Amino acid sequence: MVQPYRHEPFTDFTVEENAKELEAALHQVEQELGQDYPLIIGGERIYTDDKITSINPNNKNEVVGTVSKANKELAEKAMKTADETFEWWRKSTPEMRADILFRAAAIVRRRKHEFNAWAIKESGKAWKEADGDVAEGIDFLEYYGRQMLEIAEGKEINSRPIENNRFSYIPLGVGLVISPWNLLFAIMCGTAVSPMVTGNTVLLKPASNSPVIAYKFMEVMEEAGMPSGVINYIPGSGSEVGDYLVEHPRTRFVSFTGSREVGVNIFEKAAKVQEGQKWLKRVVAEMGGKDTIVVDNEADLELASQAIVQSAFDFSGQKCSSGSRAVIHQDVYDDVLDRVVEITKGLDIGDTSKKNYYMGAVIDQSAYDKIMSYMDVGKEEGRLMIGGDGDDTNGYYINPTVFADLDPNSRMQQEEIFGPIVGITKAKDFNEAIDIANNTDYGLTGAVISNNRNHLEIAREDFHVGNLYFNRGCTSAIVGYHPFGGFDMSGTDSKAGGPDYLYNFLQGKTVSEML
Ligand code: GLU
Repeated sequence: MVQPYRHEPFTDFTVEENAKELEAALHQVEQELGQDYPLIIGGERIYTDDKITSINPNNKNEVVGTVSKANKELAEKAMKTADETFEWWRKSTPEMRADILFRAAAIVRRRKHEFNAWAIKESGKAWKEADGDVAEGIDFLEYYGRQMLEIAEGKEINSRPIENNRFSYIPLGVGLVISPWNLLFAIMCGTAVSPMVTGNTVLLKPASNSPVIAYKFMEVMEEAGMPSGVINYIPGSGSEVGDYLVEHPRTRFVSFTGSREVGVNIFEKAAKVQEGQKWLKRVVAEMGGKDTIVVDNEADLELASQAIVQSAFDFSGQKCSSGSRAVIHQDVYDDVLDRVVEITKGLDIGDTSKKNYYMGAVIDQSAYDKIMSYMDVGKEEGRLMIGGDGDDTNGYYINPTVFADLDPNSRMQQEEIFGPIVGITKAKDFNEAIDIANNTDYGLTGAVISNNRNHLEIAREDFHVGNLYFNRGCTSAIVGYHPFGGFDMSGTDSKAGGPDYLYNFLQGKTVSEML
């Protein structure tokens, strides 16, 4: 009997012993940097001449690892392997598949600080963020394993006296999983194991910025007893390998997490029925956000200010849930703005692989350049309160930045920047604040800070986001507690870590036998 699900506790790094353990893990991982990793297709290790180099964003000269890069031929080989493996894997028992996830969770839990260290090295995130990322990966393993066992129990349907009817769920086939670099462990792991535990086979193409931790995950899955060919590890370029597999007639579904631009492109390409293809592909897409924190005039202003800062700057604003906009009631606008600036002043930024800084660097040069280009836009459209500068000499460091007095329709308040910048807009009343919050193409997360029950109820109905939070920040959804996914251009609202998620990778089958 499996234990009831509860989420993985977070590590408190103010406890010296915990901090020491992570430092030791960082030291250990440092000894293992720079290694060369192969592709894994059907369990076979394949090295290619063409490589992806994964670096530490905090220190550009530090190579985390080099990873072999798939091309079309290898993608085809992986597809063939996954297709063949599906023929028997689809008949494996849900219990056996769930057990692999439970064992993998236990292995990662035992090696948690090591995984934290890889996450810090490969993404530049702060300790707390890495710990949350790895804990969330463990949660996905534990939660989806249990969800599969529940689904396997079946659902009651009716039978008439002359017949015996049964209804069950079967897997779809081969799925392409394209995972992001921001929650480099959690989302990579969750999006790979959810199709796998439901009986599908997977082609895992991790983000090119974070392929090493994905390789480590593959090793864990193998140790946990996952048979060869079930998840195949094929890092590669989006335009070569990604597009080829999205368009492949044998691809049954695509699970993508990343930018809106790439997501829309995948959606369009997957919609086209290719020659020899005998199904309509399913697409699960988790894309961008322009997420807003609304502050009412009747509100705990300290809570509001802390929520704005934390939601905007945790992991340098590089979560699709990040609170990149705040809309504040005019009565409390100046007070909250002053406090936000004051808290922001106290944030420290630096190489998180050396010290427990609040924030590290952003992911790479192109992210750095894009984010920095918005500094001029912000100065033109609003008032720079703090930050506005960066330094990419050693790593891609950008200071936490606050722009005030922005028009709701300004570029700053409409475009996803994906960096440590928060834009602030004044609203004349609560209803206007909700209208401004809804005035984006996205609909992922949002938060309302208010002590007015009527206002909270208005927001419950009218604030159009997939994840709405009251009197807290708008990031850090927990698996099994806050099913996560957004409306509109934020994606297919597939609700990762929720009770319906696994059905994305299943199809219902009715069998009716006449008596
Ligand atoms: N689920 C994460 C959160 O609630 C964000 C996921 C993402 O950035 O893709 O903060």
